[in-house]
Amino acid sequence: MTDHGRKPHRWANDLNKIMATVFGENHLPVQLELVAKDYSRQRFCKDPIIDIKGGSLGKFEGALYPVDGGWAIIYNSDVPIGRRRFTIAHEFGHYLMHRQLFPKGIECGEDVVTYRSGEDYEKEADTFAANLLMPMLDCRKQLAANAMPTFPELAAQADRYKVSLISSILRWLEYTERRAMIVISRDDYVLWSRSSDRALKTGLYMRTKNAPPREVPIHSLARRKDLADIAKEGIKHPPGVWFEEECTECTVHADRIDQVISILLFGSPPERSFFDFKRDTDDSYNKFNGLARRRFGD
Ligand SMILES: [Zn+2]
Repeated sequence: MTDHGRKPHRWANDLNKIMATVFGENHLPVQLELVAKDYSRQRFCKDPIIDIKGGSLGKFEGALYPVDGGWAIIYNSDVPIGRRRFTIAHEFGHYLMHRQLFPKGIECGEDVVTYRSGEDYEKEADTFAANLLMPMLDCRKQLAANAMPTFPELAAQADRYKVSLISSILRWLEYTERRAMIVISRDDYVLWSRSSDRALKTGLYMRTKNAPPREVPIHSLARRKDLADIAKEGIKHPPGVWFEEECTECTVHADRIDQVISILLFGSPPERSFFDFKRDTDDSYNKFNGLARRRFGD
């Protein structure tokens, strides 16, 4: 349930329109702390956001707490600025939509903020944060839906919005017409992954939640830190490396966050008969699609 019955997209879109009016067309990257404090003070003067500060939060990535005179947003200051901004935006979303549901406050773990794997109200806060920081209209102008972006282009997006590289890739995956996937791994094991809608619908996904540990393919660039320079540019793999079809893998070894970020780009889906398609829709795809929709809110 959302405060005032408003959906997260609308909250974010309305705020972006206000920012464009106040700051002009070049209002990106969003001046997040200023906007959260000013907007809440003007619109909800009885309980505004009065403080936004960092700290070591242990297992939490961020939190929204009631304090004297209003609310405070606390974020994990031990992570890079892009991640911090997404966390603040996520908590701002909780403030706008959920503070009446959680009068004692709300604490959010890394899984829901960074991996976007939360349910219900967590998903609403993630949707709000993504739409506030990376307005869809602007994203599509920068990177077309049919583009084959490189890491530098996705990094430029991240820089434009002052978000993490992973956030900018996840945003692109939401609207791309390509069959593509992000895979995050550490120590040669997949932590999590996410597919574009078209990839998911053609059976390209990796199940990592409630599933046995999945090893990164032995011939992938994600296993080859010695090839880091080549990996950024990407190479085309034959069928059988990641999936049973060829794909281009671009990989960045992000030492600072101790993770390996891989983007897999696939060509057009292979020709399939009606009977193949029917069999898939009857079993695995439907099962996974339901699961994925619950996890990612697609
Ligand atoms: Zn949350």
